[in-house]
Amino acid sequence: MSRLKTSERFHIRVSGIVQGVGFRPFVYCLAKELNLSGWVRNVLGGLELEVEGGKLAQERLLHRLPTEAPAPAVVEDIHTRRLEPTGEVGFQIRESVDGSDGNLGEILPDLASCPSCLREMFDPENRRYQYPFTNCIHCGPRYTVIASLPYDRCRTSLRDFGLCAQCLAEYEDPLNRRFHAQAISCSQCGPQLEWKETEEAPVLEGELGLTRAVEAILEGGIVAIKGIGGFHLFADATNLEAVRILRIRKRRMAKPFAVMFDSLRSVLEECEVSEQEDSLLTSRSAPIVLLRRKRQSSKVVPLVAPENPYLGVMLPYAPLHHLLLRLVGRPLVATSGNRGEEPICFDNAIAESRLRGIADGFLMHNYRIQRAVDDSVVCVVAEREMVLRRSRGYAPLSLDVGVELAPVLALGSDLKNTFAVTNRKKVVMSQHIGDLSNALSLETLDCQTEAFSRLLGVETPVIAHDCHPGYFSTRAGSAKGQPMIAVQHHHAHIAACLADNGLNEEVLGVVWDGSGFGSDGTVWGGEFLISTMTRFHRWAHLRSFPLLGGDQAVLRPPLAALALIFELDQEIPRVLLDEFSERDLSNYRIMYEKGIHCPRTSSMGRLFDAVAALASLSKRNRFEGETAMHLEFALPDELSNESYSSPSGAPLDWRVLIREVLDDVRNETDPSIVSLRFHNAMVNLILNIAAEAGRSYVALSGGCFQNRFLLERSVTKLRAAGFKPIWHQRVPPNDGGLSLGQACIAGRSLIEN
Ligand code: ZN
Ligand code: ZN
Ligand code: FE
Repeated sequence: MSRLKTSERFHIRVSGIVQGVGFRPFVYCLAKELNLSGWVRNVLGGLELEVEGGKLAQERLLHRLPTEAPAPAVVEDIHTRRLEPTGEVGFQIRESVDGSDGNLGEILPDLASCPSCLREMFDPENRRYQYPFTNCIHCGPRYTVIASLPYDRCRTSLRDFGLCAQCLAEYEDPLNRRFHAQAISCSQCGPQLEWKETEEAPVLEGELGLTRAVEAILEGGIVAIKGIGGFHLFADATNLEAVRILRIRKRRMAKPFAVMFDSLRSVLEECEVSEQEDSLLTSRSAPIVLLRRKRQSSKVVPLVAPENPYLGVMLPYAPLHHLLLRLVGRPLVATSGNRGEEPICFDNAIAESRLRGIADGFLMHNYRIQRAVDDSVVCVVAEREMVLRRSRGYAPLSLDVGVELAPVLALGSDLKNTFAVTNRKKVVMSQHIGDLSNALSLETLDCQTEAFSRLLGVETPVIAHDCHPGYFSTRAGSAKGQPMIAVQHHHAHIAACLADNGLNEEVLGVVWDGSGFGSDGTVWGGEFLISTMTRFHRWAHLRSFPLLGGDQAVLRPPLAALALIFELDQEIPRVLLDEFSERDLSNYRIMYEKGIHCPRTSSMGRLFDAVAALASLSKRNRFEGETAMHLEFALPDELSNESYSSPSGAPLDWRVLIREVLDDVRNETDPSIVSLRFHNAMVNLILNIAAEAGRSYVALSGGCFQNRFLLERSVTKLRAAGFKPIWHQRVPPNDGGLSLGQACIAGRSLIEN
């Protein structure tokens, strides 16, 4: 029998995360091994191949494609079509095709350096010894260097750096780790470092620049370093004066800084690290992980994270960080290179002008970062990862939500903004954009939404936005002149939680946060909603109280406490008499009685603030959630079930609870006990409402559920009572997850209606 007769030829289309992960070389080697001929190439949304050869070999290929794919790859679908054999000999990797087939391209996030690359960087014999831009098919920048798809060097930031002969040989060798790795380079042909101190001082290049940056840090200076997704500000975390100067220059007096350690071993000297936390720290996403600090004295000065039992920790993820951390030999503060709440700088010239006055020097490189991508923040809670800020290493991986969605662009919230686009059963969320009250963040949102849809090759004719008419995101949406769908804030939180858990059921949604615009035009925040992906009704909510002075009450927790005292018509407790002058008190009393500048709210965030203020635990919110954090951190070691009376009735009345708090405060009960009794009362409230509502699933969402004790105890008690609690894992419970919820609600409503 001739070879041709037993031969079969197939066209195979593989979709999923298969570009930029070494999939084509993998297919090449597999085809060679199985003695199949044909070709493979990248196409938008995946890759296609044609293979010709024996039937058995074909079957083996189809079996091994998904099961043996290289580590970062995710094969979602394989589609085969029979073709006439052509008698082709040999197997080739072909050039990519540019044309769009309307499918969403998956873009990989940036990946931390792999062990093989690190070995090369620290091997004096290797030609990439100490080369700060070493990477390969398994690691290195992706999302931050991709200008457009499909993923090929000519459409990345590296296009201006022609490969030298040695790099080219690696690039063309199917058996090399750098075969078709688009972002590779070496010291001969690739990007270089440069150090700039002042405008007049000479520019130092390469190793000299790095050495000077290290000296500057060791001398207590603040150094701006351009990494993967933008600039960081680095300072010696063991030098109190350096950290103090950084706080003053950044005008960031309280919010914790993240710390970069050289190795897991150094982290273990400072923090408790569970197995799960270990795997997150060392994962390819390399996020900032919130770890509990050990109690004994530590090298990292307390001012890095004042009055905080946790420390945000990350390991080096860019080759440059590895070099830097080895040279300084101590943990470094690594905080976003920005002013205030502005987006992080990612362009050399802009960084030099915006960060001048904060940084003593700039260590930069000469390839263009395509878009700013901050570090992600995660923690382990209830024995699972929970993402608190979804950015580098996570975005823009798509989230499969399990239901078909119409094409929508969702603009998210004004706080911790992210945006999202839908594509069939998937939602692609952007990296963290930031707080839109800042003009630069708003501008970023505006230009990134356009660029994002273009990059992914999707059209989004409809815009979903928060129903708050005054939100910057809402106004930015109207300016686009497309049909708009307004989504209620807390409904979006629940939809995000449903999508995060791949659930499409009716649930009792417990949504507790600082504030969100309610369907009745008032400010909501302590909500129990019966909710599906597309509909909801308000089942129960906290009895409202006034926000004295509006936003002022958000910044100043004693004002929240004062409002509750007015509502109770009680004597003003000592702690508040100490806080306000008599004149202030009478002014606030007048405001309250006349209802001037006192919008009412059912906010759970403010109730936490009020209790913390009454227990003398906080006077200011210098960053969002600071006071609620102090209340959580005040919890005693012994976690009994003692509790205040939970709010009850309709609306849920907190007055008995606050009277009990005031009794405790008057009796000088320890704040830790006040905190415990209050937290338990809130958990009991969830249990009571869950029993009333009678839905088996209970979804916990909103910023308040960043509180570990509240979340973990609620989950445990709900389970014990026979409910199925769901909470967040891949997207934040805070407003950073809102775009996902909006995208699902609007995308699904358009299909159902
Ligand atoms: Zn590598
Ligand atoms: Zn080279
Ligand atoms: Fe919210």
